[in-house]
Amino acid sequence: MPSLSLVLLAAGDSTRFSLPVRKQWLRIGAQPLWAFVADRFCRLHPFKEVIIAAHPDEVSHMAALSEHRVVPGGTSREVSLQSALRVATGEYVLVSDVARACVPDAVIHRVIEKMGEAPCVVPALRVVDTLSDGTRALDRDRLMRIQTPQLSHADTLREALKQLSGYTDESTLMAAYGQEVITVAGDERGAKLTFGDELAGCLAPPSPEALIGQGFDVHSFEPGKSMVLCGVAIDSPVGFKAHSDGDVALHALMDAILGAAGLGDIGELFPDSDAAYAGADSAVLLQQVCSRVHKLGFELRGVDITLMAQKPRLAPYKAAMRRRLATLLGLYAERINLKATTTERLGFIGREEGVAAMALANLGYYDWRRR
Ligand code: MG
Repeated sequence: MPSLSLVLLAAGDSTRFSLPVRKQWLRIGAQPLWAFVADRFCRLHPFKEVIIAAHPDEVSHMAALSEHRVVPGGTSREVSLQSALRVATGEYVLVSDVARACVPDAVIHRVIEKMGEAPCVVPALRVVDTLSDGTRALDRDRLMRIQTPQLSHADTLREALKQLSGYTDESTLMAAYGQEVITVAGDERGAKLTFGDELAGCLAPPSPEALIGQGFDVHSFEPGKSMVLCGVAIDSPVGFKAHSDGDVALHALMDAILGAAGLGDIGELFPDSDAAYAGADSAVLLQQVCSRVHKLGFELRGVDITLMAQKPRLAPYKAAMRRRLATLLGLYAERINLKATTTERLGFIGREEGVAAMALANLGYYDWRRR
């Protein structure tokens, strides 16, 4: 049997769906869709390798979560495919969109069984509805709906991609390049995923588990700087010594959110060594953290912050801080809890050298059934 590489296209930005989450990160149970689809295919055939074309900002994160080869994809299917083909070593490649997660096993088997019989094998459906271009009916007997996975002879596909461009799938590209394309029966369930009922009909819902992360931060006082805590200006003769604005509360909170999502810490996301973050407004950084976790399939459900300060006195600011956090996080104020304590004059906080903050964040998986 010739060797076969699996290429999964998972580089989408999902902007057409106006979703906070990218489709490849919808959870099936606790598993991201791309990992779920990779496992499914791997149970059906002993692939030589699995190559996942990822969104450029997700390559390192996906690679850390997967044993498969992850390569940066591009803005079009063609660019993603080329990127995967540069590293694929199989004689043939089976290419599938991650968004076609419900394609039945039988379709995948039908495609793979034809390997070696032609340079390209593709599942297709006959058109049964009347089709019109607005002025007249089209001859539906000559039309097909093309699906994935599509199997191609790897070197022939590479050559075709060098010579021709602008094709939205391999089968039409290979046909235009003069190659024989065999069609096998597709299946309605192989349609690209949208949301709601049709997704729920074939895939397990996201796990309802609570994901908890914690964060901690300290900054010492620096005279002559303005003080900001929880994104609120505090009346104080000193601010914080820091690369950014030194908002310890938001720093602890960002670490808590990143912790719950398994995304490391703010030092990895916004390095101190990067001049772009000098004097940075931590509220803006917090919104970037939230946007990132949303794209990766999480939703924030609640936060709890403890501020430890001997001075300044923070009680008068608590209500304003809570409102500010509600706005920044897009949460109801009741999902935000804020506590302020002194340390009874003990330690560096008691000696009025600085402020510390602890935070907990509660995240869950985005529930695509609500769409
Ligand atoms: Mg800090």
